[in-house]
Amino acid sequence: MSQGDSLGERGTAIAPAARPAGTGRPDAPAPAAAPTLLVVEDDPEVRNLVSTALDANGYWHLCASTGREAIASAATNSPDVVLLDLGLPDMDGVEVVRAIRGWSKTPIIVVSARSEDSDKIAALDAGADDYVTKPFSVGELLARVRATLRHLSYLGEAVSSPRQASAQSRFEDGDLRIDYDAGVVTLSGSEVHLTPTEYRLLCLLSHNVGKVLTHQLILREVWGDQSGAELASLRVTMGSLRKKIEADTAHPRYIQTHVGVGYRMLEVGERG
Ligand code: CA
Repeated sequence: MSQGDSLGERGTAIAPAARPAGTGRPDAPAPAAAPTLLVVEDDPEVRNLVSTALDANGYWHLCASTGREAIASAATNSPDVVLLDLGLPDMDGVEVVRAIRGWSKTPIIVVSARSEDSDKIAALDAGADDYVTKPFSVGELLARVRATLRHLSYLGEAVSSPRQASAQSRFEDGDLRIDYDAGVVTLSGSEVHLTPTEYRLLCLLSHNVGKVLTHQLILREVWGDQSGAELASLRVTMGSLRKKIEADTAHPRYIQTHVGVGYRMLEVGERG
């Protein structure tokens, strides 16, 4: 593996994978409230570009230039967001996503020259949260980082799971009604027959109207931690739920898709 030779160029702080656990923090620790980003990129020019932009915008960050360094640094430093190149010298970035997902839900934004849908799908299915195609604009990348940090902050603010939100026994929005006590969903007064998984998904979203819920969070809440369910299962269930509650699935009213991030239930308001 690498000797950590070119790591130190521009990062605000460097965490060489070779340091033993526990001493891998940067010398000057990040301020308590500041998010830490991990930039994984083997191309020094791109790494410098990203690093300079993060510096200029006040983001504390670490750098890694191989997959193994990235995994070690993610384990040691628990970054809040990982920016990950896929074409790494020692392993494919998708493997890095899988490795980090083995123990961590840290958001991973893939930054890659691979622009085929199949590459994006593979990375997202492996557990990446967002995908930026190279060449990228620094402005766009920073906007994705801000969006990811925003989602984290409102997820941290307590997502209500159906189990916790039992105080509320009914949900009404537009033509849609959910009676949580009875477990009955109606649309314009007619009962909608949902599978248990569709129902749990609808309950989770309806308890969190207005919040974007990430794929990872939905999978954990609806399918459970140990299920190993993947994004494909969520997409299939969302498709079948929409067929049952949306008049036009191509233009959903109730549940909005946030590509690469998750879903959000909207407040559609009164409607005859
Ligand atoms: Ca690369």
